[in-house]
Amino acid sequence: MVKCLQCNELHDPYGLNCKKGDDSLLRTSYAAKQLLPSDMPGIWRYSDWLPTQGIIAQGSGRTVTYRSKELALKLGLDDLWIAFNGYWPEKDAYIMTCTFKDLESFPTMQRLREQQENRIMVVASAGNTARAFAHVCSITGQPLLLVVPKESSHRLWTLHDDTSSICLVTVEGDYFDAIDLAGKISSRYGFVNEGGARNVARRDGMATVMLDATLTSGELPAHYFQAVGSGTGGISAWEASIRLLEDGRFGDVLPKLHLGQSLLCAPLYSLWHGTDMVHAGCPEGMYDDVLFNRKPPFAIKGGVKDALEATGGTIYAVSNKEASQAQELFEREEGIDINPAAAIAVATLIQAVESGNVMPDEKIVLNITGGGQKRMMQDYGQRPISVSLEVSAEDEEAESMVVNKVAEIFGNNDGV
Ligand SMILES: *Cc1c(COP(=O)(O)O)cnc(C)c1O
Repeated sequence: MVKCLQCNELHDPYGLNCKKGDDSLLRTSYAAKQLLPSDMPGIWRYSDWLPTQGIIAQGSGRTVTYRSKELALKLGLDDLWIAFNGYWPEKDAYIMTCTFKDLESFPTMQRLREQQENRIMVVASAGNTARAFAHVCSITGQPLLLVVPKESSHRLWTLHDDTSSICLVTVEGDYFDAIDLAGKISSRYGFVNEGGARNVARRDGMATVMLDATLTSGELPAHYFQAVGSGTGGISAWEASIRLLEDGRFGDVLPKLHLGQSLLCAPLYSLWHGTDMVHAGCPEGMYDDVLFNRKPPFAIKGGVKDALEATGGTIYAVSNKEASQAQELFEREEGIDINPAAAIAVATLIQAVESGNVMPDEKIVLNITGGGQKRMMQDYGQRPISVSLEVSAEDEEAESMVVNKVAEIFGNNDGV
């Protein structure tokens, strides 16, 4: 069941919005109060606290947490744990799209299957989310419409030979043009939107980062570091911490959230600190534009603001120079390449150490949200997903062109 955080009423497990109209996130309430890891593959190790009945066994990876030696030494930290999300065979890390978006896409897809959803799923994304959904849809065969800004199409690679369940549309325009177009299409008959931060499958999937870090290190950390765009990962880490606290075996203090954004395009930082760190040309100039989200779930009940207040956390802003130095430092010391977004989290940790926001002996979890893409290139051939259609945001026909293309590719889908 899921529960509204405003009115406390229970809703059906697939609900995205409060039926009474409260503007609040719904949160899963699990029967198991203590977390027992299973021996199922990938993320399903934490199936006790995932909102699914069954699993998608193939292709799922999970977070791998380990205690840092080299980076910890450089930063003067005694108890630094790295929650690595990506590909790193020497560490048994097998998230095959190389970011933690796979932690969202697998439970989300599994729930669609359980609902016997045969409408076409629509996902708009600047890249990493699209790649994660393309991966899982190539496994399950669920038809998927991806709407991606043309500039981001380089992030759309796959390891699968058969991508016939994917219709990839690139949009001449920015991320918002892509979201806008995807929104219009998903409200049509025959299409379904997965719900973003409101979908508990996405949040509880991302929450497994904190579950893995806590089970591996034996205790809830004092501090949690992550680079954020929407902040959904931060909300999820808080929700996981609440459950772990109630479990009773891992400590009784919520980890403080330390969330990092990229300077000059930092909407969450601006909302939290009451400043204006968002210029008109955003996401231009960002260290990694996957971290830009114009409408993050900040003030909504159960959102980023509540998560920061409940944990005594804060948000940092990082310059491109700090980010690239942090990236270099991490890669040199830990010996694996990381996604540029993850470098923002490393730089955030460095700021927090320098400003005394964390103490050298405290337990710290650093979420490396993506890594090992270069490492993977040595082992596998990554192929671009072929583009089915290119449209311009300005073209009035764009929406109907996409709908026609989808019909052409997927034929007479039940819903269309
Ligand atoms: C999406 C993403 C983030 C930000 O995630 P939130 O949804 O804001 O929690 C950070 N790093 C990488 C690599 C991502 O793909």
